[in-house]
Amino acid sequence: MAEQTSRQRFRAGQVFALLAASFALLFGAIVALLALDQQEVLEATGRLQQETVPQIVRFQRLARNIEQLRQEGERLFAADSPEARQQAVFVVTLVASHPSMIEHPQSAALAREAENFLVQANRQAIEDPALLKKFYPEWGVLANRLSLQVDDVLIQGVNLTTDDLTAVERSMQDARGKLLGALLLVALFLLLLIYLLRQYLIHPLQIIDRELSDLSMERPVPQFAATPLAEIFSIEEASKRLHASLVDNERARLEMESLAHRDELTGLNNRRFFMAQAGAELLRAHRYDRPVTVGMADLDFFKRINDTYGHAAGDVVLKTFATLLLESVRQTDLVCRYGGEEFAFVFPESTLEESLVLAERFRQRFSEYDIRLPDGGVVRITLSIGLADASQRSLEQALNDADEALYDAKHQGRNRVMVTSSEKKAIQV
Ligand code: GH3
Ligand code: MG
Ligand code: MG
Repeated sequence: MAEQTSRQRFRAGQVFALLAASFALLFGAIVALLALDQQEVLEATGRLQQETVPQIVRFQRLARNIEQLRQEGERLFAADSPEARQQAVFVVTLVASHPSMIEHPQSAALAREAENFLVQANRQAIEDPALLKKFYPEWGVLANRLSLQVDDVLIQGVNLTTDDLTAVERSMQDARGKLLGALLLVALFLLLLIYLLRQYLIHPLQIIDRELSDLSMERPVPQFAATPLAEIFSIEEASKRLHASLVDNERARLEMESLAHRDELTGLNNRRFFMAQAGAELLRAHRYDRPVTVGMADLDFFKRINDTYGHAAGDVVLKTFATLLLESVRQTDLVCRYGGEEFAFVFPESTLEESLVLAERFRQRFSEYDIRLPDGGVVRITLSIGLADASQRSLEQALNDADEALYDAKHQGRNRVMVTSSEKKAIQV
């Protein structure tokens, strides 16, 4: 319990706000990462459309120009007139200074080299056309380099596309990986949430529900495992307090019930309770036609005890009498302090004759009993008893008859058990 109280506890609202915030943060971060990948894909495709495709077109145009340059070179060597050669050189000069050529330094250098070579060759051919043949092998090498340059330029164009497509694919793969990761994280988060809900909220609530449903003073104080949630702890503590107050109330109720039934001094049933119990007992006997006897007893010369030894001594005598009486009767017999030093009985399942034997035995026992007084002295006292058969009578009638018999017993000298004159029988011991 002390360990329970000293533990740090959190409010459920705060815990779940924290969980919700972490989930929102996690989810936000994942969405942001996915958006970044999406942005990369968009950028790569945009670049493909706006930069790479025009660049490829430029590379193709450049390749065409280089090829044309090579073809014009061939035409120069194949031409049979100075005009045709001049025209070929003119086209070569035009193509070599084309912007697409100038933009590509490597091709521009090769084009300039080819142009210079062809201009030089043409100049020699103007002086002597036969000299042209001398330049042809060297042109062959240059023409070959131009062809290779055409291939190079085309490959560069293709590479540009491949680079962009690879970038798009990589970004898309990244996005797919992150999406899968995100789904996994969300699933893990949900599993964690379900576990926390079950472990720290639903399960404890089920236990509290069970304990509250079974709450009664017969069961022990409800026990709960340590909880980190303040609200659950409060409910658990309230259940324990509820159990404690239930037990207290029940104890107080029983105590009050007992006080209402019992005579304070002797602990015997009081007259009110006796009347209710005796009434029910007589009803039962009448219904099943069973024997039942009612009795009244009164201590003889009790006033003298009070007068001689004091009221406290009188109380001790009354208590001793009650103890002895309870020892002597059966559990099913009803006895009560009827008032003062008078007592009433009901002997169920006992005929008048049987009851006379019982009452006589008790009278004798009591009259021989040494009662120890508070001052250490010992006193003996007798009692008179009146009995009446109650199997055919109401409780009031039977008690009146028993009282009449008791009156007779007193008048005939006390310390005796008697039945009413209507029973036509008196027993004197
Ligand atoms: P009898 O043989 O005729 O019955 O004589 P008695 O003296 O017993 O009868 P009486 O009615 O004259 O006196 C009964 C006395 O019992 C009077 C009363 O003070 C006493 N008494 C009644 N209740 C209590 C009690 O609770 N404690 C004590 N100590 N005395 C009580
Ligand atoms: Mg008396
Ligand atoms: Mg009396």
